Amino acid sequence: MKIVVGQGSCGIAAGANKVYAALESALKLLNTDTELTLTGCVGTCYLEPIVDVIDEEGIKTTYVKVTPEMAPEIVEKHIKEKNKIDDYIISQSDKSGIDSQKRIALRNCGIINPECIDEYIQNGGYKGLEKCLKELGPEGIIEEIKVSGLRGRGGAGFPTWFKWNAALGSKDTPKYVVCNADEGDPGAFMDRSILEGDPHSLIEGMIIAGYAIGANEGVVYVRAEYPLAIIRLQEAIDEAEKRGYLGSNILGLDRFDFNLRIKAGAGAFVCGEETALIASLEGERGMPRLKPPFPAQKGYWNKPTNINNVETFANVPWIIANGGQAFAAIGTENSKGTKVFALTGKINKGGLVEVPMGTPIRDIIFDIGGGIKDGKTMKAVQMGGPSGGCIPEHLLDTPVDYDSITKTGAIMGSGGMVVMDETTCMVDMARFFLDFTRKESCGKCIHCRIGTKRMLEILTRICEGEGKDGDIELLEELGHEIKAGSLCGLGQTAPNPVLSTLRYFREEYEKHIYDKK
Ligand code: SF4
Repeated sequence: MKIVVGQGSCGIAAGANKVYAALESALKLLNTDTELTLTGCVGTCYLEPIVDVIDEEGIKTTYVKVTPEMAPEIVEKHIKEKNKIDDYIISQSDKSGIDSQKRIALRNCGIINPECIDEYIQNGGYKGLEKCLKELGPEGIIEEIKVSGLRGRGGAGFPTWFKWNAALGSKDTPKYVVCNADEGDPGAFMDRSILEGDPHSLIEGMIIAGYAIGANEGVVYVRAEYPLAIIRLQEAIDEAEKRGYLGSNILGLDRFDFNLRIKAGAGAFVCGEETALIASLEGERGMPRLKPPFPAQKGYWNKPTNINNVETFANVPWIIANGGQAFAAIGTENSKGTKVFALTGKINKGGLVEVPMGTPIRDIIFDIGGGIKDGKTMKAVQMGGPSGGCIPEHLLDTPVDYDSITKTGAIMGSGGMVVMDETTCMVDMARFFLDFTRKESCGKCIHCRIGTKRMLEILTRICEGEGKDGDIELLEELGHEIKAGSLCGLGQTAPNPVLSTLRYFREEYEKHIYDKK
């Protein structure tokens, strides 16, 4: 028998450490050889703390919302008497919500112990790397990634193979592989969950990228606000080194050396922009730089650098192990594979989901997410974080793929979905996101630095009942000017929440301005 406690940040916040300690004490009293271990987040954060009991035949019973007080009862009844406690078991609809997903990036999260490399290996881990070194070679890897159709999951959706090929083609050396784990969108926690729940999938993906482009050094740039992710990632790097997956002569083949280290970022949202991230890595203030040259030509220390985000790298070992065609068979014509989304806001079942590209937003929010809290009606969903835009309820049948989401005025972004109900003031919501981007502007360009401040002033006076005739037009004009005149993605997308709410909820702005009674 084995007991597994979900100890991602969400589980711990809900009390999983105390549950673990209570289970440990109860097992000690029982004097049993039942193994007690941990795992990351399976995605159903709303059910934490979650405890799985796995019997000798491998059959799993999942207990949810477990308290320290319930722990002795689980040990007494389930472990000692072999009787399940039906009242605590996950409901069929919650289980269906998990089973209906297609999990590639999250394939091991909530299943394996992230602190145990053997469990990763038993689940097929490092098989992709072996295939790369023994069979495919750099061009073969890039071809496989090209066939897969994988596009960057950090937001821009750029074809991954193209970036890798550009870095491979560059004659300059040394080359670098960088992982952008600077997840900063309010309401987004996809990358954190992979780092905490399956760090070896990222490590393996980065080693494969290094071999493909000819880099011997990699850096994971993680926000310092993710302490558990950093601890687990460092432990995983140390374990991978000990087992010969990192360091010199990887797999003992005398073919390839690769070292990996972590850089903790100080929490600037703009450092999610790749050139600002590189500046920060070099010890400079995190400010974006002009492109071109692109990082694949001149990146970290002006050398060819490939940057991808956590989810992108986590997909790579699966693609290599299963073949690019298997990944390309999922999704839509121009958006292949799956996408992880973080569901937050006024939703019943908040957490992480991974679905095939092309799944309608409605299915994610209502079928998996359980619909809107307190029986209220849905008004809109903000997609793509503060750089994204809001999608109104009448467009909920829009499929989640890069092109369809862009047509609505939002962006796929890294996968944040903040759900709003009938009580949400859309002007106030736009003000919240704009206030966030204004504070996070690095200040390099006037349009972004001053423009967002002026837009925020207008939004604030509208929200406070002091709006004037012409304010809406001024917001639109400023929004378009800022988008056109800003250097990096932060400024180019900062007005999106305002412009998209003006597109779909203009009457709310007008009501604030003209109907003040
Ligand atoms: Fe900095 Fe904003 Fe200019 Fe980007 S757009 S470089 S965040 S001032």
